[in-house]
Amino acid sequence: MNKHQKHTALLQQIFDASSQAILVIDKYKTIIQVNKVACDFFAFEKAALIGLKLDALFPAINYKEGNYKGIWIHKKNGLKALVDLRVQTIHDNDIAEAAFYITNIADNLIFQSTHKINRNNLLNIESDGNIGTWHWIFDTDEQHWSDELYKICGLSPGDNNLNARTAVLFLHPDDRELARKTMNYAIENKTPYLYENRILRPDGTIRFIRAKGKMEFDSASKPIQISGTVKDITEIKKAEITIKKEKNLLFNYMDTASSIFLVINANHKIEFANRKAREVLKVLDSEIIGKDWFNSFIPKHNRKQLSTLFDQVIKGETVPPDTYENIILVENEERLIQWRNGILRDANKNIISIVSSGIDITEQTYNQKKLKEQIDKNAALLRAIPDMIFVQDNEGTFLDFHAPDPTKLLTSKNKVIGNNMKEILPAKVHKLFHQAQLRVLKNKQVEMVEYTIEELERTIFYEARIVPMNAKKLLTIIRDVTVEKKNEKELEESKRKLKIYSEILEKKVQKSSKEIKVAKEQLVTSNLNLKDQIQETQVAEKIALVSKSLSTAIAKNFPNGFIIVFSINSEILLKEGEAISQLKLNKFISEGMFVDDVSIVSEKQKKKIKVQIRETINGKHLRFEIKYKKKHFSVNTKPLLDENDTISSALFVYNDITFQKKIELKVQNALKKEQQLNELKSCFISMASHEFRTPLSAINTSAILIDKQNEPGKEEKREKYVGKIKKNVKNLVVILNDFLSLSKLEEGNITVHGELFDLIDFSKKLIEEIKITTKVGQNIIFSSLESKVFIKLDPKLVRHILLNLLSNSIKYSPEDSQINFKIKENSTHVSIEIKDQGIGIPKEEQKQLFERFFRARNTHNIEGTGIGLNIVKQYVELMNGTIDFKSQMNNGSTFKVKWPKPNEK
Ligand code: ADP
Repeated sequence: MNKHQKHTALLQQIFDASSQAILVIDKYKTIIQVNKVACDFFAFEKAALIGLKLDALFPAINYKEGNYKGIWIHKKNGLKALVDLRVQTIHDNDIAEAAFYITNIADNLIFQSTHKINRNNLLNIESDGNIGTWHWIFDTDEQHWSDELYKICGLSPGDNNLNARTAVLFLHPDDRELARKTMNYAIENKTPYLYENRILRPDGTIRFIRAKGKMEFDSASKPIQISGTVKDITEIKKAEITIKKEKNLLFNYMDTASSIFLVINANHKIEFANRKAREVLKVLDSEIIGKDWFNSFIPKHNRKQLSTLFDQVIKGETVPPDTYENIILVENEERLIQWRNGILRDANKNIISIVSSGIDITEQTYNQKKLKEQIDKNAALLRAIPDMIFVQDNEGTFLDFHAPDPTKLLTSKNKVIGNNMKEILPAKVHKLFHQAQLRVLKNKQVEMVEYTIEELERTIFYEARIVPMNAKKLLTIIRDVTVEKKNEKELEESKRKLKIYSEILEKKVQKSSKEIKVAKEQLVTSNLNLKDQIQETQVAEKIALVSKSLSTAIAKNFPNGFIIVFSINSEILLKEGEAISQLKLNKFISEGMFVDDVSIVSEKQKKKIKVQIRETINGKHLRFEIKYKKKHFSVNTKPLLDENDTISSALFVYNDITFQKKIELKVQNALKKEQQLNELKSCFISMASHEFRTPLSAINTSAILIDKQNEPGKEEKREKYVGKIKKNVKNLVVILNDFLSLSKLEEGNITVHGELFDLIDFSKKLIEEIKITTKVGQNIIFSSLESKVFIKLDPKLVRHILLNLLSNSIKYSPEDSQINFKIKENSTHVSIEIKDQGIGIPKEEQKQLFERFFRARNTHNIEGTGIGLNIVKQYVELMNGTIDFKSQMNNGSTFKVKWPKPNEK
């Protein structure tokens, strides 16, 4: 590095280290050099600032060497700032023209110009200044004027021109009256005086003074002397005026500013608001000064937070943020303001207020928001569009694309941009596109291209719309129209079919109109024959009448029944006979009625009659029986020939056979009984041969054994065998008794001998009796809520019934089980319930339970005849009772017998 370079580098360092923003421009007013502070201040990168025209930052005026106060400059971020500017031309350099030194006065000038600072400055000046003194004793006329006082008045010390009488003449003529008045007031009220006045020096110059003093009095209130001080305040006044001017200037600048300027003091009161601020806040100058900023303009919800922050800044606890945004409330409307802040300090460097410059960015933010919304919306829209969208340059290279279904791209997603459609599209399609794009570029008009792409198993139809964007760009919107194409095709197909159908229809219509024409002609011809036909019919009717009267005569006298003649369509042509009036059928049957209209016949019967009529007319002779009102009729049918010897009606002859029927029924019943007895007998024989064999052979064996055990000492054994004989004989007797009962029942020889007895007592005794036959561990438990239940029944039959049910329960239940015997009574009935825990009855066989000789399939190992329950049921019913049961296989059975209570007590 040579000396010169070193020098330049050093200068650059100094340049950069300066706390003032500095710009250097060339004669074209282009910025050619900047320091760091300038970059920060204008919010530009150094590279961006260099090369920029001065006009972009500064108001466009012709800057000469000198100072410029209060200039509004533009920053990159859109903010404006108020600055002081010093322009220095650079002479001995053929590149640079001038340097701009920039001072930000938002932090500087405003600070100096506030009221409080002024007062402090004044006080400082006063303390430094010399003060003239004087006094005058009235009695002696002794006077003293200090040297300083002479100087103030523009005289040499001791000049005779100044004495007590001439002093007033040194005052500016315009101010003398005010001074005199102030003095007189003080003397009259015996108070000190103070006034500020101008002095007119002998050389004609004017000085400003401040005069203070007091007159003294004796005890009789007689003035003794007066003394005072005079201070030259010309410099202060001058400074005051300059400051005032500057302040005005500043405030004028501020009033022209497009930003808000506010000065807020430590007590939150607004001390200054520029015009923009007043506009935004919608207040007059007089209204706003002294107002509490936070209470008046900050929304309640962040009032506390902001005022706390403000207080912290005032106390020096924190620095204000460089920029920040907050919402202010103006006439109930919220505005968003972006603020920059400066701190104002007094001479002792205490923070006394904060100056803020702000920009109302409500609309801007709103617009930004709207813009973002719009962008988001567009993006959402784009996402929702099913179409593919491509941006291409004029040579067909893809610049950008949107593809909701990337599988339709014909290439992978990342191979689209930068590639030419030639490389992606099939040659044929490419050719179509290429030609269309050339036309679009030339005509600047939208073109449509329709093409297909063959996929594995199907053809996809596409429709592309090529839109010109500019001379070098094209937008292509592609849509899959396969479905639409298919629909179109189907539509055409159905249109074609429809056409064919309508042609066929047309032909049919033509044909049938021809047929109608023929039929019409035929009708005309047949009409001509009608007259002859009528004549023929009349003759035939006459013949019919004669034949009818004949048959009526026969029918009327038809004995012990009636006859009906039906037409082929079931119309009653004739009805006659004795039984008609006997059975009062006249009300229901009359000639001219149809079978369907006869109310005393059911629908089913009507159908049947119609079939019978049809069959008869077809030539059949039918014979069947019907029953009406307890009367039996045998019916014979016969086809009737008309005068042309063709069958056109059916004759039904109803013969009353009620009497014969009765006899027949009786005979049948007798026959049935005979049959049943025969059955019984044969059953008895087969049963006897089977059921009797076991007890008889047991008896036989026992008898043989007794015979063998004849000698004494074998008594015990003998007794055992005798017991066996007795038991088996008893069994036989039971079976025989059952058969006896059965045949008696069959013959109707059982008569009921009802008598009133207590069923409870009766049952208890019966249970005691049967207990000896129970198996080991079996228990019969009797229960009833009543103590006595009187009933009028045949006790013998009841005994049989209960013994039978109980013995079944014992027989079909295992050892150690329980049998419950329950008697219940209500207002109308008495019931007995016998419940066991035995083998039960299979569900599918339960229906047959009371049938004679029925035994369930689960009873093979248990002896029995299948007669017991049949007799039980008949006995129960003979006494107007009912019996039913509930049972489940292997889960016990319950038999319930129920009788109505006797109504006489
Ligand atoms: P038997 O007991 O002589 O076979 P019954 O007429 O008394 O004749 O009974 C007919 C059938 O009803 C019996 O064979 C048996 O299958 C069934 N049955 C009657 N009572 C009971 C019962 N308490 N538990 C199970 N089955 C019964």
